Amino acid sequence: MTTKLKNFINGEWVEAKTEQYEVVPNPATGETLAEVPISTQADVDDAVKVAKEAFKTWSKIAVPRRARILFKYQQLLVDHWDELATLITKENGKSFKEAQGEVQRGIECVEFAAGAPSLMMGKQLPDIATSIESGMYRYPVGVVGGITPFNFPMMVPCWMFPLALAVGNTFILKPSERTPLLANRLAELLKEAGLPDGVFNIVHGAHDVVNGILEHEDVPAISFVGSEPVAEYVYKKGASHGKRVQALAGAKNHSIVMPDADLELTVKEIIGAAYGSAGERCMACAVVVAVGDVAEPLIERLQQAADEIVIGNGLDEDVFLGPVIREDHKAKTANYIKVGQEEGAVLLRDGREDACMTEKGYFIGPTIFDNVTPDMTIWKEEIFAPVLSIVRVDTLEEAIELTNKSDFGNGACLFTESGHSVRYFRENIEVGMLGVNLGVPAPMAFFPFSGWKNSFYGDLHANGSDGVEFYTRRKMLTARW
Ligand code: NAD
Repeated sequence: MTTKLKNFINGEWVEAKTEQYEVVPNPATGETLAEVPISTQADVDDAVKVAKEAFKTWSKIAVPRRARILFKYQQLLVDHWDELATLITKENGKSFKEAQGEVQRGIECVEFAAGAPSLMMGKQLPDIATSIESGMYRYPVGVVGGITPFNFPMMVPCWMFPLALAVGNTFILKPSERTPLLANRLAELLKEAGLPDGVFNIVHGAHDVVNGILEHEDVPAISFVGSEPVAEYVYKKGASHGKRVQALAGAKNHSIVMPDADLELTVKEIIGAAYGSAGERCMACAVVVAVGDVAEPLIERLQQAADEIVIGNGLDEDVFLGPVIREDHKAKTANYIKVGQEEGAVLLRDGREDACMTEKGYFIGPTIFDNVTPDMTIWKEEIFAPVLSIVRVDTLEEAIELTNKSDFGNGACLFTESGHSVRYFRENIEVGMLGVNLGVPAPMAFFPFSGWKNSFYGDLHANGSDGVEFYTRRKMLTARW
C-alpha cells in the first residue's frame, strides 16, 4: 500500500484534514513513492496556532542554547548525508552526486545559522547627547511561513528555517507537493536534535495552503522561492495583508564567452550549468552568448560534450543527466523545442531523439539551439529543462546589452582571461549574481542570494546579513541616566 504522508504539527505526524491526495512519483521510473495530502486552511490554522504558542517560549530561550540545537542538527545532517541525498535523487531525479552537493549546501546554511549569537547582536552608541545613550536590539518576528519549489527539496528550505529558528522565530514549511519527502526527514532530524515541539511545522499541499499562510493574521513574515508568476502573486498578496515578504523567482541566465576564454574549462562549466539537475536550477545556464570567432570552436566542443552525457536514473553510477520532474514538464519542454524550430532557431542537437525518451521516466536529452535571437520564445521564457540556446554577437558590449534585455536578472557568467572584460562585465551587467570562469555562481549561505529584476520580489534577499535582517525586527532604546 502507498504511504500517505502526514503533516508535522507540534512535533507529531498528523493526518491532514482533506480527502485529496496527489501521487508523488519517482521521475526516473514513474514508480509511486508516496501520496501527499493537499491540505486545507484548517490544517494551516492548526499549525499556526501551535507555532504561535511555541513562539512564546522559543523566542525567550537564550540564543546560545538555540545555536546548540543547530550544532546538533548539523551533525545529524552530516551523519545522514547519503541517506538524504538518496531521497533527493528519488523524488527529484537529479544525480546522486548533485544531490550530495545539495545536502552540503543545506548543511552550510545550518552552519551559518548556528552563528546566531553573533548574528543577532545589536549596536550601541554610549553618548548621542550629554548623558544619553542609544542602542539597537534585535528580536525575532514571530511565526514565519516558508513556501518552497521542487528543484532543491533540501537546500531551499535550508535557506529559510535554520536561520529563522536560530534567531528565535517559529516556522511553518509548505514544501513543494512534487517533492515532499525530504522535508519530512528534515523535520524528524530536527526533533532528534532537540528542537522543542511546535517550533517547526510542516503543512503539505498546494495553493490553498499558500493562501492560508498568506492570509493568516498570525504569520507576519513569508519566505517564498518558486516560479516568477507565483512569486509576484505571493509578494503582492502577502504585502497586501501587511506582511514582510521575500519572494525569489525564475531566471534566464546567460553565459558570455569571449574569444580569449579557456575553451576546455568553459565547455566543462557550461555543460555542468546547462544540463546539471536537468536544467532545473534557478542558476542554470540557459543561454550562451558567443562573442566573435569563438562561436565555431565553442559550438563544436559543446555538441561533442553533450553527446557524451550519460542519461538515466540518478542513482546509477556515472549518470549525469536525470529526468525532468514530471511527464507534463517533459511534454512542455518538447513543445518549446518545436516552437524554437518554428521560430527559426537552428536545432543542433535534439534531446527528443535520445534513446531515453522511450523509457518510463520523464527523460529528455540535452538540446542545443544555435542562431537564437531575442525575439524568440526560447530566448525570452524560462524553460527549466536541459535546453541550451546559443546567441552569436560581435562584441562584449553587444553581449551585455542582449543579456540586459532579459526580464530576469538572477545570474550571469563571463568566460575570459581579460581583467578589463571582467571589470566591464561587472560594472554594466544588470544581474545580481555574477560568475567569472565558472558556471554556477550561487553565493554561499553567508552572502545574500541576490537576484534582480523579475528574479526577485522584495528588498531583503535570502541568506547572509539580508536573511538576519529579514527574520528579525529591531528595538531602538534611547536612555538618559
Ligand atoms: P512553482 O512556482 O510552481 O512552485 C513553488 C511553490 O509555490 C510550491 O510550493 C507550490 O506549491 C506553490 N504554488 C504553485 N502554484 C501556486 C499558485 N498558483 N498559488 C499559490 N502557490 C502556488 O515553482 P516550481 O516549479 O516548484 O520551482 C521552479 C521555479 O522556482 C523556477 O522558476 C525556478 O527558477 C524557481 N527557483 C528560483 C530560485 C531563486 O533563488 N530565485 C531558486 C529555486 C527555484
